[in-house]
Amino acid sequence: MRDMERENRHLKQRLKELSNEARRNETTLNRFHQRELELLSAGSLAELLQHLTDGMRRSMELASICLLLEDRKHHLRDLLNNNGIPAESFPAVRLVDDLQQAHPHLTSLQRVWLGPFLVPEHAGLFDNPQQLQSVALLPIPRRGKIIGWICMGSRRHDRFTRHHASDFIEHLATVSGVCLENAANRERLLLSGFTDPLTELYNRRYLDRRLPQELSRSHRYHQPLSCLFVDADHFKQINDQHGHSAGDQVLQELARRLREQLRASDLAIRYGGEEFTLLLPHTTLKEALRLAERIRQRVEREPVRLESGQTIPIRVSVGAAQSLPPPPDLQPDLESIAKALLENADQALYLAKSNGRNRVECINPQARS
Ligand code: GH3
Ligand code: MG
Ligand code: MG
Repeated sequence: MRDMERENRHLKQRLKELSNEARRNETTLNRFHQRELELLSAGSLAELLQHLTDGMRRSMELASICLLLEDRKHHLRDLLNNNGIPAESFPAVRLVDDLQQAHPHLTSLQRVWLGPFLVPEHAGLFDNPQQLQSVALLPIPRRGKIIGWICMGSRRHDRFTRHHASDFIEHLATVSGVCLENAANRERLLLSGFTDPLTELYNRRYLDRRLPQELSRSHRYHQPLSCLFVDADHFKQINDQHGHSAGDQVLQELARRLREQLRASDLAIRYGGEEFTLLLPHTTLKEALRLAERIRQRVEREPVRLESGQTIPIRVSVGAAQSLPPPPDLQPDLESIAKALLENADQALYLAKSNGRNRVECINPQARS
């Protein structure tokens, strides 16, 4: 009888332990589901990277996290730049040209690894290695390849050990791989709608989307923003004398010459026909005028060589304008500020045309000094 009682007590205790464990597992599972849903519903690549780093670190109560991604051809970097959110805005994300070269230790693991934080192997992965006691290193698989790693660091030595089950976090890494691929594809597709097929510069729709963002940034950081309108001189004659296909080749070469004069943060847009807009963040009117003159000279210096070997001289007129910051106590109306900037550059271009072409103008000449 006493034996039965003891056994009964033992079974009750065991049942309680099991139900506690089940509850704990359910909480963990719910947390992972929540994470997974966030990743799947990220609206952009930038948002996804945010979820995969800061979001993951917070919800999983980690001391540190690092997301390593292979970006051989800088596609991810370019997609982020195109949205005006450079990769540098994500300190916990590292885009590397070659995973094997950048992190041979990770590459040698090939699979998930949980265990103690080891200085020689893991210190380079985290920005606060001195606090870490244990780590989880998760490969992100995609189409039979490892496209990156999620590296999690904890201050607790018993948070990640080789005895822990890793199914949940491995699953999360798999979902991350799918989400990363989808987000990059979606953004690439979106971008193709913002690209001019002839010159591969951005199109006017893109300018409409980016200009308010750039203006808002320039106001926030009290930085100047300038704009150039570049228009080919007597372009119609080129078409008339050499044919439309020759005209197309000239436009492509003109686009190339414009692009080669710009910094990474500048934007080159085909505004329409033979007219281009250059948007120059952190640039005063004086600097914009200097760049405009450099462009004018570069275009004029060398005739365009067509595929046929024929050469065609080409010249451009340029109008420059700078966006002025709104009065400090007024809510800036970005739409009308954008409109005013483009109109000023357009008027300046008109001035350059009416003053004889192949020249640079702005509508407030005192700004030149
Ligand atoms: P201006 O110096 O006053 O700017 O004279 P323009 O001849 O350059 O200007 P106009 O606006 O009279 O003519 C622009 C020409 O550009 C007419 C149009 O056929 C041509 N054009 C516009 N888009 C394209 C294109 O995609 N390819 C080619 N080949 N020509 C184009
Ligand atoms: Mg023209
Ligand atoms: Mg024109």
